[in-house]
This record gives sequence, C-alpha cells and structure tokens, in this order.
Amino acid sequence: MSADAHPSGADDGDAQRPPTPGPDEPGAPQAEEEAREREALARAAEAGIHCLAIPTPFQVGRVNAYLIEDSPLTLVDSGPNSAKALDELEQALAAHGHAVEDIELLIVTHQHIDHFGLASILARRSRAEVAALDRLAPFLAHYGEQAELDDLFAERIMLRHGIPADMVSVLRTVSAGFRAWGAAVDVTRPLADGEVLALRDRTLRVLHRPGHSPSDTVFLDEQRSILLAADHLIKHISSNPLLARPLDGGGDFEHRPQALITYIASLEATRAMGLSIALSGHGQPILDHVALIDERFRLHRRRAAKIHGLIAAGPLTAHEIAQELWGNVAVTQAFLTLSEVLGHVDLLLADGRAVERESGGVVRFAAT
Ligand SMILES: [Zn+2]
Repeated sequence: MSADAHPSGADDGDAQRPPTPGPDEPGAPQAEEEAREREALARAAEAGIHCLAIPTPFQVGRVNAYLIEDSPLTLVDSGPNSAKALDELEQALAAHGHAVEDIELLIVTHQHIDHFGLASILARRSRAEVAALDRLAPFLAHYGEQAELDDLFAERIMLRHGIPADMVSVLRTVSAGFRAWGAAVDVTRPLADGEVLALRDRTLRVLHRPGHSPSDTVFLDEQRSILLAADHLIKHISSNPLLARPLDGGGDFEHRPQALITYIASLEATRAMGLSIALSGHGQPILDHVALIDERFRLHRRRAAKIHGLIAAGPLTAHEIAQELWGNVAVTQAFLTLSEVLGHVDLLLADGRAVERESGGVVRFAAT
C-alpha cells in the first residue's frame, strides 16, 4: 500500500498516553525546544540548506523538501503530484530567489509518493538530473506497475494475517485512489550506497538505510555533519517499518521481509554517526539523534514485550494483536498497524520467544 505509506497515527502503541516532551531533552519546556529547533534550521540555512514544507493530502501532513543552494542547485524530494504542492513549492523557491526551471539536480530519498510525486513534472520543466539509489530507479521508472504489485503484495499479506476480506478490498480501493499523487520518473543519475555526490561547496555521502521503506536513502553533508535523513528518522513520530516488497522482489509475494529488524540495523548505523543536525522528511530538525534512536529502541522493546504477553494467553493473528493493542482503528490504518505488529513479532521470532503456525492460509502466532 504505497498510497498511505507514510508515518501516521499508527506510530505509537502508547498513543493513548498524553504527549511527552521531545526526547532531545526530557522535560525541556516547549518554548525552549522550539527555540533550539529554529536555531538549527537557521544554521542549516546558513549552510545553504533550506527546509521547504510542502502540503500533502495524507494524514502525515506536510513533507519537507530541502533546497540546497550550491552548484548544481539541488532539491531533495519534491512533494506529492498535486497542483497545490506545486504551487506552494514554486512560492517557497521564489522566496529564495529561484524558480523550478533553475533546479539542476533533483534527489529522491525513497519510494513514497509524498516525497517523489512531483519529481516527474519538476524534471521535465527544469531538465534537472534526477538522482536516486540505483536499486530504486526501476521502481520509479515503472511506478504504475510497481504500485500495482505493491497492492497485490499487501493484499496477500493482509489476508494471510487475518484482516477480513471486505476490509482488504476497501483498502485496495483507497490505495488505488491515492496512486495519482505519484508519477513515474526516470532516474538519470543512479547512486550507489556509500558513494559521494560532489557539489561545489560540499560532498554528500549517499547511505542506504532501509527499514521505513526498502529504498530509504540518507545524505550526509560531510563538511558540516548535517544529515538529510528523510523518513529514516523523524522527531515527533516513530517511522513505520512498513511491510513492502523487496526492491528486486518482482512478483515474489511468498517472502515477508523483516522490515523492523532491517530498520533497527539501519538505526544502529545512524546512531554510530557524529551528527550536528538531522533534517527530517517531516517535522522539526533533530539535535540529539542518539537520544532519539535510543528512545525508539526502548519503544520497540516495550511493544515486543507487550505482544509477547498477549500471545502468551493464546495464539493470535497479527490483525487480532493489532486490535488488542489499538482497538478498531480506521480501515485505512489497518495495513500500517499490521506492519507494526509483524515487525515486532519478527523480533520475538528471531529471539525464539514466538512461533508461527499456519492453518487454512491464515497465520497465528504463539508464545514459547
Ligand atoms: Zn514521508
């Protein structure tokens, strides 16, 4: 379900609890935190990196594109394919003295439509190079068919894990309706994991950090230790480890990727980096990525323990577990919550604390 494949309300199983202060500095007054965030954005802007918040029709709200005033003039992500997003992007570029036609390099951070939807239109108008992870290029070039395969994959997984058929068909319709916010785009500058993209005033290290999606790519401004983190790390929401077909998976629907296990390994790699600021695909800049990642690790351990407690009382499908955790969520959230549950069940399976049993095409999990 690429349609709704962005972080959302399903981010936190403890969502019933009142919001707590940001993990950067537990207990820091809100105003102080906001001042630090503004200061971080100002420092990034001084380095030529400007945050442009572009509207999306999705629950996640605005998506952050980043204008890098360098040579080539670079835009990281584009926003979704909509007239409103294009209009606001043009205004935001104009505020910095630029037009769409001036963009020379367009970078795509990952395969979600809130991030690359407009790329095709921008590339056509500006004749900019389009850069993205090499393994992502075929997906972007054949977005329509790829989105269809994603939906088939999601349908198969949902039925296998106990989501009722009528709900699955509603989700397919919703997803198909969202598809027009994306558009196929040709990657002219494929990027290898670990390579360096050299601009006049900086080098951007390309780092593949899969988990939230199979193609998540982050870009490190090596001179300033500023990380363009996209949806790999978001301050106010725990990025969903969304279940997705592997990038080279074609029509293989039999193997369920272990998105959360992959994501945790990616977070560990990012945790080991020395960063001054991490700029996210949504929301505010992150000033203490180590504290934030540690908070996410605690959340994942807590949630896995909770699920272990639930299945200790008797075998459950992933959908039943999601209902126990979050009640009857909106239909559109069903795939996101399923992804969350399966991610945490994978942790239990890997530790030998749960087993998977299939009967009549439906999987149930039991505690050991
Ligand atoms: Zn996003």
